Amino acid sequence: MNDVDKLWELQTVLTALNEREKQMSVKPDSFAAIDREYQAANEEVTRLQGQLDTLGKERRRVDGELSDQQELLKKYQGQLMQVKNQQQYAAAWKEIDAARKHVKDLEESVLKNMTEADGFQQQLDERKGGHDALQSRYDEAHADWQHSLSDLRGEAEKLKKKAAEIEATLPERLRNEFQKIYRQRQQVAVSRVNNDSCSMCRTRVRPQVAQQLKRGELVHCEGCHRILFLERSTS
Ligand SMILES: [Zn+2]
Repeated sequence: MNDVDKLWELQTVLTALNEREKQMSVKPDSFAAIDREYQAANEEVTRLQGQLDTLGKERRRVDGELSDQQELLKKYQGQLMQVKNQQQYAAAWKEIDAARKHVKDLEESVLKNMTEADGFQQQLDERKGGHDALQSRYDEAHADWQHSLSDLRGEAEKLKKKAAEIEATLPERLRNEFQKIYRQRQQVAVSRVNNDSCSMCRTRVRPQVAQQLKRGELVHCEGCHRILFLERSTS
């Protein structure tokens, strides 16, 4: 195997390694879909729970006010028994009327609160009813993803080892040249020649250069300056 073949092999290994690392960095579609569904369901439960909490607080406030007003109403009704003239009687009735109206408003408010709370509770119960199935689908997809990650990690480790092995067989000058182009040219230092053109930048390879490549010489693309690789038939 000559140096250009080794460089091409190194490039192939690094491309495969980059692909694995990219796969590891993103949630796979199969997991991302269930993850979105799961997060949305949890947010909805939190939202409904929040609504119920708010209604519960409001209910306690109204209940307190209602019992105060009922006490007040009883007091006014007691006073009605002790009035001494028509004027006091009219005044007591006015207070009773106002208190009764207030009690009625508060009772309506309690009723409205209960209806709303029932609605939210029902939605919450429905959510919770479907939760176990969703949870197990989520857990399964998550486990699959983690499992595929461990496969990818294993593959990446092997590829890293392979790359280091190839690098160790290269002269330092070539290794440095490869790494410089690799960094500068989107992690592709070696470009394969397809149909007499550089596969990365489409620049045509002159016949003279093609001859050099056939002899296994190291040649740079005249367009993108990457190292060119031509597959030579071994037969
Ligand atoms: Zn090129």
